[in-house]
Amino acid sequence: MTTFLDDINGRYATEERTIINLCLKNTGFSLADLAKELDTSIPKISRIVGELVDMGYLADLGKQESSAGRRPSIYGLNPAAGYFVGVDVRQDGLSIAVTDFPGRVVHFEHDVPYRLQNNEESIREMCATVKERLKKARIDTGKVRSYGVNLTGRVNHETGYSYSYFISEEKPIRNLLEEYLGKTVSVENDSHGMAYGEYMSGIADGASNILFLNVGWGLGMGMVLDGKLFYGKSGFSGEVGHFPLLDNHQICRCGKIGCLETGASGQALHRLVKERIESGQPSILADTCKKGKELSLNAILDAIQKEDVTAIECIEEVGATLGRAVAGLINIFNPDSVIIGGRLSVAERYLMPPLKIAVNKLSLNLVNNDTVIKASRLGKAAGAIGASLLAKSRMLNS
Ligand SMILES: [Zn+2]
Repeated sequence: MTTFLDDINGRYATEERTIINLCLKNTGFSLADLAKELDTSIPKISRIVGELVDMGYLADLGKQESSAGRRPSIYGLNPAAGYFVGVDVRQDGLSIAVTDFPGRVVHFEHDVPYRLQNNEESIREMCATVKERLKKARIDTGKVRSYGVNLTGRVNHETGYSYSYFISEEKPIRNLLEEYLGKTVSVENDSHGMAYGEYMSGIADGASNILFLNVGWGLGMGMVLDGKLFYGKSGFSGEVGHFPLLDNHQICRCGKIGCLETGASGQALHRLVKERIESGQPSILADTCKKGKELSLNAILDAIQKEDVTAIECIEEVGATLGRAVAGLINIFNPDSVIIGGRLSVAERYLMPPLKIAVNKLSLNLVNNDTVIKASRLGKAAGAIGASLLAKSRMLNS
């Protein structure tokens, strides 16, 4: 396995990272410019730049225009410096995004078939699938600098352990992924990865405090506070889905009763739709329920797009419940923006109005006036793009 530190033989790590970061922000530098920026000698900079050129990070961009005297060579980021791959892992599929050094998305695909299981074989299969899809998309895996992988549940990005999947006492999941992908891997909680993707997409218009709610089958939250992802002590922050807010006597998948997720998530929408159909309310999904077939969340979201009134009423109820929680979060955090993302955000037309009404009604006006509530900009791509951008950030800033 090649890591960035191996790439540079463990020497000049800080200087090399600084030079790459400088070249990401500006078009090019002469050796004299870089020596000045890093406050070091030209021979030392010359040696480091030579190594970075050999490793493919930098390129000689030609001679500087000058009216007189010797024209120095200009060095800048190699347009073919490589890629970062983000993988968003769900129970029933993968999303894969590839970004380049400047952060442009060069490839994205969604719903790649894969079934997440709690064993090492499943990791091996996932890595093989990712590499195969990259090959198909003509991405040279030799040029991938690092991978970022989002997983649901509790993840400690520093130790590389997931506490929900592939629980192994011997080695963290990150190490297994690195073994099978052959490159440095960073692991992340899915909601945190999505929050970072949205934040980097510019949705917050330069603001530095955003709360991102991932309304999928469950409910999670990622927070960017003062421009940085907020993790808490062990990386487990943002478990808003298990906030004991509701008096609905519903048992949550965590085993407790009345968690927010039991009223404001995909599983809540699923339960509400089934209950209404079973009580005789008409719906285009009624046949599926009667025939005893499994009613999927995607089928419900499709029914909403087809203007099924029963399904719409249910997602409105979910929006109102979620709004109650958002009102509380706004009172606590006073954020610039609250971004509503995840699978249910495809139905933003029906989800957002009751959510905003609840926020207006229940949050403190003075605090609420500071906050903009928006639907996700990146949609289903948020997680994978966020994971790839985090992989780059960790490589260049660790
Ligand atoms: Zn719970």
